[in-house]
Amino acid sequence: MDVLKGVMPLLLTVSTALSCFASGGVEKVAQEVTRCDLCGGNQLVEKATHDASLEWGYVWDYYAAHPENDVPFAAIPRKFHWLCCPNCQLAMVSPRLNDNVVMRFYDEYFSGKYKGFVHDYDSNFREGIFSYYMSLIEKHYTKKGKGEERFLDVGCADGVFMKLAKGKGFVCYGNDVTDLSQKEATRYGEVVRCDAIDYFHRFEDGFFDVIAMVDTLEHFRSPSAILEALEKKIRSGGLLFLETPDFDANFEGDRMSRHFHLFNKASMKYFLEKNGFTVEEFAKDCSGRYNPGDVKVDDRFLVVIARKK
Ligand SMILES: [Zn+2]
Repeated sequence: MDVLKGVMPLLLTVSTALSCFASGGVEKVAQEVTRCDLCGGNQLVEKATHDASLEWGYVWDYYAAHPENDVPFAAIPRKFHWLCCPNCQLAMVSPRLNDNVVMRFYDEYFSGKYKGFVHDYDSNFREGIFSYYMSLIEKHYTKKGKGEERFLDVGCADGVFMKLAKGKGFVCYGNDVTDLSQKEATRYGEVVRCDAIDYFHRFEDGFFDVIAMVDTLEHFRSPSAILEALEKKIRSGGLLFLETPDFDANFEGDRMSRHFHLFNKASMKYFLEKNGFTVEEFAKDCSGRYNPGDVKVDDRFLVVIARKK
């Protein structure tokens, strides 16, 4: 899980002061979204709304009991809208929360202090799912024949995917914005805690053989800017592995304010082909679950393998 900040929306959003803030709403915590990040379309159609209390209630409860803290969470809008672009089918949440809110949340996400907040970050479940993902990568991967084979997990969290890739002989790299990556993932490779675009700049073009992003793409302010930067860093014939919630899956739990963009098959294909990739496979047959009470991966996510042209 990754929550990269810093990729500003490329002139694609218009900042407006929102009038729907609750008490204490002095800070501007979110911006209305008016344009599609993928195709630039501005005729966005509202497809759904969601009640922010489902997602932020635990956090609000915590800070209501600790009023001495000065935090932006109280000003979060009570309702979010899902807008869909009729041109490319990308879905996006509006208003979109600003960095100061989401980064503060993720700083505290693993602290366990939000009573009742889902904190089931169980690596055993992740490892089962990621083992399947690794088998998909192996199915499509063509070794370059000489030199080390390099695997990068963008949004590497605790490094489980890196661990598995290392077991397959890859030299592993990781990037994330959370503390967790520094504590755990460094066991499996070189890990840097920073913004993804800044991270990509560290490497020469074509450096990586495989780049993975699991539960990461939906968190970017501009998926287009990320893919444009990432594409340069994969060698020709190398693989991109993506797992991200499927908007068409209609899974309520993924329609949250912290998921800025949700794809479906059509928008994903457009997204990849526009940026120099060909889709190898939309994978199915993953019956794994991230948590015991969760729905199956197949019923929730797009799992995509693409090849750099
Ligand atoms: Zn669009």
